[in-house]
Amino acid sequence: MLKKHRALGLDIGGTRLKAVALETPGTVLHQLEIASNAGESPEIVRATLREAHRQFQELGFSPEVVGIGCAGSVDGHRGVVRNSPNFSGWKNVPLKQWGQEDFGVPVSVDNDANCAAVAEWKMGNAVNLRNFVLLTLGTGVGGGIVCDGKLLRGATGTAGELGHFSIYANGEECPCGHRGCFERYCSGTAIRRNAGDISSKEVFSSPGDPRFAPVIEKFLFDFKNALTTLANVFDPEAILLGGQVSLGVAPYLEELQSWVRHHAFPAVGENVRILPAKFGNLSGSLGAALLAVDENLPA
Ligand SMILES: [Zn+2]
Repeated sequence: MLKKHRALGLDIGGTRLKAVALETPGTVLHQLEIASNAGESPEIVRATLREAHRQFQELGFSPEVVGIGCAGSVDGHRGVVRNSPNFSGWKNVPLKQWGQEDFGVPVSVDNDANCAAVAEWKMGNAVNLRNFVLLTLGTGVGGGIVCDGKLLRGATGTAGELGHFSIYANGEECPCGHRGCFERYCSGTAIRRNAGDISSKEVFSSPGDPRFAPVIEKFLFDFKNALTTLANVFDPEAILLGGQVSLGVAPYLEELQSWVRHHAFPAVGENVRILPAKFGNLSGSLGAALLAVDENLPA
């Protein structure tokens, strides 16, 4: 029998810190949500992480490892947050080092979408897969890639920024410095803008509305092409769709699958499946905990 391990997962969002106390292989013992204080200084967020840890300790939970996820440019190798849209003024914050000092156990840190991919890989809809891509469709578009049985991090720990491959060479400018980024066309923000400040949730719930039908059509056109590119680049067994916007996309999975089957390389297109992600809100914290177990504890 596999040895059980205890891991704390922390997901620092723009407004909320989500935390789970996990016992492997897959039991969530406790979870909590507190204000993340992300708009404050890094030291105040550090204190918030300690507070979550303290609350779990009061419940009798002492983790062997801690995982921390957060949005933005995160160097997963070194556990450093270079910058993040959630944290104004954060620059090269050594979250991993701080965590190890504060908690006295091994700590892993990664981008929230990478953590979400690990959650799907270990406990969700990508269990047993060696090659898959997770797209998180929300305010922006995030991504996580598992390639040949490993989370793909790249040379600088930044791999998987799937919201920022260009689908229109002369397209819209993106704050990242590039043009025509996927995120500029297929995020919740893009749909809202194209629909005249109506949320993607409302748009997808009234697909027959003449105001929204062209918005959905344009979204699907761009999305299909992006999926085909991802399929050809990574040759995944599955592309999982998570995040709030993915709920609206759910009725179109078959249409997307069929498009990719006919437009990707034949071997790739016949093999890849387009699937919903299993985890919603919990994916970042759960994945952070599972990543910490995976990286720091023997199986
Ligand atoms: Zn971009």
